[in-house]
Formats: sequence, C-alpha cells, structure tokens
Amino acid sequence: MSGPQRRVAYGLGGVMVVFLVTHVQEAPVTHRWRLMTTPEWIERIVTRSSFRGVMGEFGNSVLPESHPVSRQVAKVMVRLINAAHDYPDPETGRRLNLFTELGKADIPLDEWRFYVIDDVAMGRPTPNAFVIGGGKVFIFRSILPICEDEDGLATVLSHELGHLLADHLGEKLTLSPFLLTLNMAMYSIFGSSRPGDILVNALLDTSFSREMETEADYIGLMVMSRACYNPQKAPRLWQNMMKFERQNGQTPPELLSTHPSSDRRFRNISEWMPKAVAVYSDSGCQQAQGFNSLLGGFSGFGKVSLV
Ligand SMILES: [Zn+2]
Repeated sequence: MSGPQRRVAYGLGGVMVVFLVTHVQEAPVTHRWRLMTTPEWIERIVTRSSFRGVMGEFGNSVLPESHPVSRQVAKVMVRLINAAHDYPDPETGRRLNLFTELGKADIPLDEWRFYVIDDVAMGRPTPNAFVIGGGKVFIFRSILPICEDEDGLATVLSHELGHLLADHLGEKLTLSPFLLTLNMAMYSIFGSSRPGDILVNALLDTSFSREMETEADYIGLMVMSRACYNPQKAPRLWQNMMKFERQNGQTPPELLSTHPSSDRRFRNISEWMPKAVAVYSDSGCQQAQGFNSLLGGFSGFGKVSLV
C-alpha cells in the first residue's frame, strides 16, 4: 500500500471507530451495550411499510372503533400510555416520561391508533399483538380469551409497548441492515410483507433477541403496575400462552416464539415483583381497584368482552 493509500485507509478506519464509539449506548434494564445507528427516518420508512403491509392483509378485518372490543383495547392502551408518560422511578423518586427517557421520540396521546383484527371471523386465529412506531397498536381478537381479563390484556399490551419504548426496532435495524433490503425485495416479489417478515423473524431468533424480550417484560411489568393493572396477574397470562402452545402443537404464538425460556421468564418476573408491587401501591392503585371492583359488580369492569 502506498503512503497516500495508507493515509486514506487510516482516515477511514478512524472515522469508522469514531462513528461506532459515538453510536454505542447502554440498553435499558439489561444494561447491555448496543450499537444504534439507525436514523429516525429509516425507522419511519420501515414503520410505514409495516403499516401498509398489515393493513393490506388485514385492513378489511379490523373491527370498527365503536366495537366494544376495540373500545376495551383502547381503554387499556390509553392507561398504559399515560403511565409511560408519567412514571415515578421507585429508586430515585423522579417522575419520568419513559418515551424520552428510554431514547424514543414522544408520541402524543391523540396520535395513537388502535386496531383489533378479527382473526376469529377470518377462521385463522393467530393470537398476537404488536405496537409499531408512530403509535399504531395491533391486536388479534383471538388473544382475548387467552388474556382472560384486563390485567392479562394489559400484560400483553404493556410488553409490546416496552419494545417500542426501548426502541428494539432501531436496534434490530442497526444490527441487521441487510434484513431491511431483504424484506423490501421479498415485498416487491410477493406483494406482501408476510414472507419477508417470516424470514426476518427466523433470522432474528437469536440470544440478543431474547435479551430484548426480557427488557420488554420488565418495562411492561412496571408500566402496567403504574397504570394500576395487577402485576401479580402477569404470570397467569404467560401460563395461558404456554397452555395454548401445548394445545396447538408445534406452532407457538408469535409472542412466545423468540421469548426467553418459560423458566427464565417466571424467575425474572418473581425477581421484579417486589418492585412492581411497590410501583402499584405507590400509584394509589389499591384504593382505585377497590372502587373499580365495586363498579364491576354493576358494569362488568375488568372483564374482556368476547362479543
Ligand atoms: Zn416480545
């Protein structure tokens, strides 16, 4: 290598090192170091493409906003979003907005949209839920009997919100830039995001993906506690998911497919439970729940409607 070539190579190497060092950050909860290089505008493109893909496939099966199930999902989600906007850290006492605290741009409440996909009427139940950027929440109706009640529903939705708050999409895009190209290529071939999603999910089923699941479990448990949903009901939801998995042979619900082993999940949850219970009681939830259970006798509060 000649002198000028060597200087260019060193220069590029130096720029690369500076770029990597300035884009390393500590992940919430697990405190692993992660590389985050995905600009917001790429996340927005991916989010828009995901939204179009999901609506293209399921848009005709979305329940109207006025449907009782849609209203119930919206009600739970609004409580969770409000809780994430005003979260008192039990260790420091500081009031945090978890959106900005965890490095995500804030999404005002009126920009959120909630979509319940009636996969039961479609005849192919796929119990699942996910939250994508820009505040779009999707939940499949077949997950509701697995949730059993609003605490179970809050467990599912807060876990998905946890993924959004910790910006796991940005992390996945950073670590796997070629997956984006692959997904777009698959979309252009098949005209649907599903084949690309399946392939990408298979490629991402690695241990770092399971770390993200642990983070989402933790953030979800704390946010649902802050929103006065009973954290002690969370294990039951995951047990129900495993029961569904056993009853349906080899196809686990997507929510379980890349998740930590159930042993590890339950160990984690019991380790975090004292903190979750502290968040729950510091938020004055016992009094609120006492009042709500009184209301429940008249209005069915807290029950998931399956109509
Ligand atoms: Zn997850």
